[in-house]
Amino acid sequence: MNPMVAAYIGIGANLGNAALTVREALTALQQLPLTQLSASSSLYGSAPVDAGGDDFVNAVARLDTHMGAETLLAELQKIELTFGRERPFRNAPRTLDLDLLLYGQDEIHSVRLEVPHPRMTARAFVLLPLLQIAPDLQIPGKGVASDFLPGLQDQRIWQLPVSRQDLA
Ligand code: ATP
Ligand code: CA
Ligand code: CA
Repeated sequence: MNPMVAAYIGIGANLGNAALTVREALTALQQLPLTQLSASSSLYGSAPVDAGGDDFVNAVARLDTHMGAETLLAELQKIELTFGRERPFRNAPRTLDLDLLLYGQDEIHSVRLEVPHPRMTARAFVLLPLLQIAPDLQIPGKGVASDFLPGLQDQRIWQLPVSRQDLA
């Protein structure tokens, strides 16, 4: 078995009931083999950056996992498929997008997988929820995560109210 690693997953949805999709995605992450969901951020709303369509709902989860990085990516893609994700074109509106942001301290550059996620430090919808659950985070090869926030002030992002479902 692989050693346990803290992995961070970026969750995004902007089709249908996006907030419900994000909550259900968190439940799906919780049910992954060899894995504990050890933290999850609030839900955030964000305006689409390069994508069309409605506002996004975003969140970040931390997994303590014994899965290897490539296996974890494959599992994330399986979850996307169960939510009916299609990829008609790049940055198309999507039911569910799960990105592997960080896998411990690893830096991975393979055909299928780049970790840390190369665009994470340019995206407020990733950094804000990430910093909520990991305020002192260091990003391998990039530095202190919070140092990137001041450059992203022009991106619209807002925390969604806790729903009655979350309190149940
Ligand atoms: P972006 O990567 O800019 O957020 P996207 O999420 O819309 O864009 P996708 O269409 O979901 O991009 O993914 C395209 C490919 O990216 C996937 O098939 C996957 O192999 C690859 N990929 C590389 N690194 C990662 C990563 N860290 N997390 C998820 N997918 C990755
Ligand atoms: Ca993405
Ligand atoms: Ca993706």
